[in-house]
Amino acid sequence: MLAATVVGLFLVIMAIPDSDTSVEKAGSSLADSVAEAALPALHFVVVDAKAIPLPPPWHEETVREGDNLSLIFSRAGFSERDVYEVSRTDGGRGLRKIYPGQTIAFMTGENGELDKVKHIESKLKWTVFTREGNNFISSVTKRSTELRQESAILRIQSSLFLAGERAGLSNRVIMGLADVFGGVIDFALDPRVGDTIELVYETQWLDGEKYADGAIVAAAFTNRGTTFDAFRYTDSQGDMSYYNSEGVSMRKAFLKAPLDFTRVSSNFNPNRLHPIYKTKRPHRGTDYAAPRGTPVYAAGDGRVVEAGYTRANGNYVFIQHGESYKTHYLHLHKRRVKQGQRVTQGEIIGTVGSTGAATGPHLHYEFLVRGVHQNPRRVHKSLPKAKSLPASEMARFKSTLQTPLQQLAALHQDNRLAMGQATGSSGGE
Ligand SMILES: [Zn+2]
Repeated sequence: MLAATVVGLFLVIMAIPDSDTSVEKAGSSLADSVAEAALPALHFVVVDAKAIPLPPPWHEETVREGDNLSLIFSRAGFSERDVYEVSRTDGGRGLRKIYPGQTIAFMTGENGELDKVKHIESKLKWTVFTREGNNFISSVTKRSTELRQESAILRIQSSLFLAGERAGLSNRVIMGLADVFGGVIDFALDPRVGDTIELVYETQWLDGEKYADGAIVAAAFTNRGTTFDAFRYTDSQGDMSYYNSEGVSMRKAFLKAPLDFTRVSSNFNPNRLHPIYKTKRPHRGTDYAAPRGTPVYAAGDGRVVEAGYTRANGNYVFIQHGESYKTHYLHLHKRRVKQGQRVTQGEIIGTVGSTGAATGPHLHYEFLVRGVHQNPRRVHKSLPKAKSLPASEMARFKSTLQTPLQQLAALHQDNRLAMGQATGSSGGE
């Protein structure tokens, strides 16, 4: 029983210039006439206002941790019978998947009975269940965002994260940069003051407002005078990945730094004397000072060959990668993997801590090739080459580079001009 369902169209016009105003404002006449010219012609369909009762308001409940439909419906004042009738919609799939933070809204009919339920998953998707007798019928609304591109220039003074924040980037975009360049840059140890990143990234817009940041389109990182560039490319198979301008994948066999360096506040992390032994004893790894709890990643795909505790290593994890390579992670606060477990690159295997022979929280990372310790900072030069796009993709790939290459070049030019002005060498004015 759809009781006089009414679709009301309410047009609210805000800030219409008041033409009766007698106050003359200098320079306002042009603005006023533009505003008048921009007003849309309005066509009102006049209906009998008395015949249109205002729709009752929705009563909203937020899904909480540990919630279920019975709890939510009863908070809103509805019964188990209502839960049953709504949830059997669509062959029992109605409201089956609800997650904390989502909204369930309820609308009551004339006699106080449950008339509609709205499951709002996000601003982009909601489902309305409308009563028809003892059943409900569902209708799904999906909206899509409009994609735009934005650009930013980062100048690193202390860390990627702070430079990104200063440039107004969201965590998501900063993490995206770390992800794109994680195979070629150790963001904890490589950056130097004056390094720059220029990037173009997507943003999603809804109703004229930014809804979310999207993926990185192209980026260039200049580290001590050497520029690494990266371009997003979706190949003819539909697989999206990042490549340099020569078509070599940015995805390497090993991460340069196996931890979430966006959490590391200072990039400058020189290898110090061993914190416990206070000597220059040969240090067979790299130390990353980072806050306790910082996620530690598997540097590459592999299998956990040891995960345990010793008084020297504290909580530790050893990973075997293929036949030749092995990586060690020591002093972990928590281990997140078990011996024998397969791991993929970037998977969290534990968190930074100070267990074992360590004075402060840090990750001690070792890299072994055929059982021999290597300097993790240098070993990357001798590792297998990253894969390149096949020759059959190259023409298509190159054709997609034109625009982003121009965008990066323009940003680089802007950045150089800005830096020239900052140091007073532009000679302008
Ligand atoms: Zn160490």
